[in-house]
Amino acid sequence: MVNNFESGQASSPDILSQYNLLRDSGALENLEAMRRENRELDRLITDAAALISLPSVPLMLDFVIDKLLERFIPEFLGFVIEPPRGSRISQFCYRNLKPSDEVIPLESYRQLREFFMSKPYSARFETIRDAIGGFPDLDGFSPEMVFPLMGIGGLYGIVVLGNKVVGGDYTDLERMYVDRLTRFLAVGIQNEMHHHSSITDPKTGLYNHDFFVRRLDEEKARCARHGNQAAVLMLDVDHFKRFNDNYGHMAGDEALESLAVTLKGAMRTGDAVARFGGEEFCVLAVDCDEQGAMELAERIRESVEVMRIIHGNADALSVTVSIGVRMLDHLLDAKRLIDDADKALYSSKASGRNRCTFFRPGFLGRAMLIRTVKAGAEKR
Ligand code: GH3
Ligand code: MG
Ligand code: MG
Repeated sequence: MVNNFESGQASSPDILSQYNLLRDSGALENLEAMRRENRELDRLITDAAALISLPSVPLMLDFVIDKLLERFIPEFLGFVIEPPRGSRISQFCYRNLKPSDEVIPLESYRQLREFFMSKPYSARFETIRDAIGGFPDLDGFSPEMVFPLMGIGGLYGIVVLGNKVVGGDYTDLERMYVDRLTRFLAVGIQNEMHHHSSITDPKTGLYNHDFFVRRLDEEKARCARHGNQAAVLMLDVDHFKRFNDNYGHMAGDEALESLAVTLKGAMRTGDAVARFGGEEFCVLAVDCDEQGAMELAERIRESVEVMRIIHGNADALSVTVSIGVRMLDHLLDAKRLIDDADKALYSSKASGRNRCTFFRPGFLGRAMLIRTVKAGAEKR
């Protein structure tokens, strides 16, 4: 760059002297540094856009690892992620950017958490240690920097970055890149968590009503396209009011949580199970015919029957469920399919509970009509 001017075609002595002035004052070097940072920012924006659109935290972490690998290898990299609403803290640790079983002590995490509550910015580990007096204990992780994962709901976790394996200290640009990338990681994690809580029921962790109806519509379209068969199952706990009255609401809640685990255990991959509301659940069973759907319903009914609910010191408790089954029909909307499964469920209740009934269009409708007419006649 410099050579051109000094040896080349620039003829005006003014231009040359101004150029030399710029060079000697360091302005050109600054310009080059700004260009470099600009390029970094450009890359960061592209990376950030890709990162925050990933659908799961493990995929986001894989992405971050890939991005760091393009620049350097830290001896240790640890992510502690704490979802809101007191859910379980999870950790993902890497040694030389390869997954490792190491665990950051929760006590150390709590101390770091405390620190970031008052100073929500990344910091060198030494600075943190000095600020909180000797702790936290991260020996063995060769910690260099710690980054908070901040979001609307406060702190979602931290990232611990160990020393570089080769190449000496981190440069300012490298630190800045990790700092910025972890800010976007926090946004991505936040999105994923909030999306997850928007489609699940907090008590059981199962899908919620809205999501189930959406899945049902998708499955109907898939069946119409590929000619597959699928079924919807509606379940209702028998005499649950009595269960609550006898053993208390807390025992009732534990029964619902155990039920969720049992239902998930009875499903195949691809099936979806949701809490429809109160003590009602629904299942979408994909790729199954009438016989398969009834076998699944019966398997669920039996697993619930043998399920034991441990509540305090009381003897193990149990519940039963009644089930209605309806095959998907792409000509009918989701509401109608659920209503039909509900009718079959009602029939299971009416004929003694703890049983499964298959909905047959026409037949059951006629049976229901006859019952309604009879009931009306008896009243008169
Ligand atoms: P049936 O066999 O006819 O379904 O009788 P049931 O008692 O189960 O039906 P009912 O609809 O009369 O009562 C449902 C009960 O479910 C009443 C309600 O207190 C209880 N319930 C609904 N949601 C929850 C919950 O989240 N926790 C607890 N513990 N109970 C719940
Ligand atoms: Mg009910
Ligand atoms: Mg009930």
